[in-house]
Amino acid sequence: MIAHLRERSWIIVLCGFALLFPFIFPSAERNFWIYYSSTVGVTILLASALNVSLGYAGLFSMAHSALYAVAAYASAILVTRTGWPFWLSLPAAVLLTTLVGTLMAVTTLRASNLYFAVITLAFALLIQELARVWTPITGGLFGLHSVPRPSLDGAPLSPIAYFLLIWLIAGVAIWGLANIINSRYGRAFRAIKLREEAAAALGVAPLQYKLIAFSFSAALAGVAGVLFVHLAGFIAPEIAGIDAGLLLFVGVFLGGVGTLTGPVVGVLFASGLQLTISNTLDAAYQQLLFGAVMLLTMLLLPAGMIGTLRMWWTRHSTRTTTSPETLSTEQFLDAEAIRRIIGFDQPAAITTHTPLLSARGIVKSFGGLQALRGVDLDIVPGTIHGLIGPNGSGKSTLVGCLTAYHRCDQGAIHYAGAPLPSQMHQVAAAGLVRVFQIPHLFGEMSVLENVLAGFHLRSRQRFFGTLLQLPADRRDEQTLRRAALELLALAGMADKAQLPASQLPHGQQRMLEVIRALAMRPRLLILDEPATGLVSQEIQALANLLLRLRDIGLTILLIEHNMSFVMGICDRVTVLEEGSKIAEGSPQEVQRDPEVILAYLGESAEQAHLNLSVPVK
Ligand code: ADP
Ligand code: MG
Repeated sequence: MIAHLRERSWIIVLCGFALLFPFIFPSAERNFWIYYSSTVGVTILLASALNVSLGYAGLFSMAHSALYAVAAYASAILVTRTGWPFWLSLPAAVLLTTLVGTLMAVTTLRASNLYFAVITLAFALLIQELARVWTPITGGLFGLHSVPRPSLDGAPLSPIAYFLLIWLIAGVAIWGLANIINSRYGRAFRAIKLREEAAAALGVAPLQYKLIAFSFSAALAGVAGVLFVHLAGFIAPEIAGIDAGLLLFVGVFLGGVGTLTGPVVGVLFASGLQLTISNTLDAAYQQLLFGAVMLLTMLLLPAGMIGTLRMWWTRHSTRTTTSPETLSTEQFLDAEAIRRIIGFDQPAAITTHTPLLSARGIVKSFGGLQALRGVDLDIVPGTIHGLIGPNGSGKSTLVGCLTAYHRCDQGAIHYAGAPLPSQMHQVAAAGLVRVFQIPHLFGEMSVLENVLAGFHLRSRQRFFGTLLQLPADRRDEQTLRRAALELLALAGMADKAQLPASQLPHGQQRMLEVIRALAMRPRLLILDEPATGLVSQEIQALANLLLRLRDIGLTILLIEHNMSFVMGICDRVTVLEEGSKIAEGSPQEVQRDPEVILAYLGESAEQAHLNLSVPVK
């Protein structure tokens, strides 16, 4: 939160600086500086738009200068040919650009990232070609000229008034963008970019949120395009081209992708450079220089100026963070407090033995390897069900099938009385929540944002409400932040809330994943080897937590190789070996099963017996 506030104030300071340009230079040069500063404002907006798609949602778009041109052409045509006022052509052109962007995204989002870049490039070339050949409408190679500045009461705005209007509109647009980025939407964009399958497991529908990100980004590019055409007074096909887009990419990469301040700093720097060399260097050499700057940035400062500064700052501030005193196992993750914060229902008396989840004949192969050979599994509500078996016996694969992460080759799965949904995010929305065996945190997001990502499905934030910071949407975000901080406090991580999740010690990363999963208010929680890497005190705390969660009505499927942990807390245990179920029953029954003992037979039978026979509480 503080980091965001700081970032917003930086943007205001930097933009204020650019806004002052026309006033600090001698009045003879004023007109030039008004024009120059106006173009900087437009470019900052366009670069920020590109950053939503590229930096936040990870969609490498080559089409932004083309989208910008679509809006510029649309507004120019509406104003010069049909006499529409700017105030109507602006929303109309932005709407059209958004539709074009959405259409483009709908047709290409399923493609991989590389193809996305190539297809958007093809799209940009298409737009440019269309502008060249559709002469009656676009003016062909010469483009459209004499596009007037907006007028008010019949008189066109003075250059200085339009300059102020440009900065006002760009400022409001960037404010809206910042609101979206610091909300459920921005978190979903970043989550998808960083780890799509983990985002889906939290209930974020990847395609839907990529589409939102791209359409929003196109809309912002549209605003920039309209502002530009009424400033420059003309539009020509080159504007849609890749050359024109170069300054944009240099700005975004140099400043830092995926930061709000990055594009502002990058564009200020890049346009300053362009201005300095414009009188001394030939146009072709300017492009070359920009290409070189971009290459050097990628090599030397892959996170850009702001990204690098931020990393330095985080590292610096981490060193001064005091580590928390160890919490006692009683205090640690108190289940009652969790229930209060998350709002689990009162424990319902579980009267039914109808399985909450039921799988029949699950078969799953990877190439020639049959990982599951017809497994049946029933999970009774309100129980902790253990799933054990040697390494490679198919436990994680089964979890993948149960959560629509894998599509099984054969078999049927029913959850809560209905067939299992086919998409991961739908499974999550139905309350079936999984914690991956390999930590799936969003490493570059803060610890707090990771928990907030777990609240995705419960958030009531709407897009336009968030954009405009309507009270209900602001309150929702505040409520979620408070709850997330309370949860972190319970796990003794409150002082690490602002750290990137990747900087937590391994044990805390695992705990954070459990907390993030609990934030989703699951009905069935699947934990894949959660105790790996935890010290014995933490394992004890986790065991206590799971028992208490079961008592408040949660159903848990626990995959574990730590036998005393499994045998100590499970109501039922299923044993897999080489993709088949070899035993099932109470922990005591399973431990006595000769086949199970054989499966665990390492070097000697005694060792296997030792591994399995642990004191059962
Ligand atoms: P467990 O979780 O019980 O240790 P897994 O379900 O991870 O076992 O793996 C079962 C078998 O399937 C192993 O032989 C493993 O190598 C193989 N396997 C798992 N996932 C994949 C995959 N994505 N591609 C190919 N083989 C896989
Ligand atoms: Mg596994």
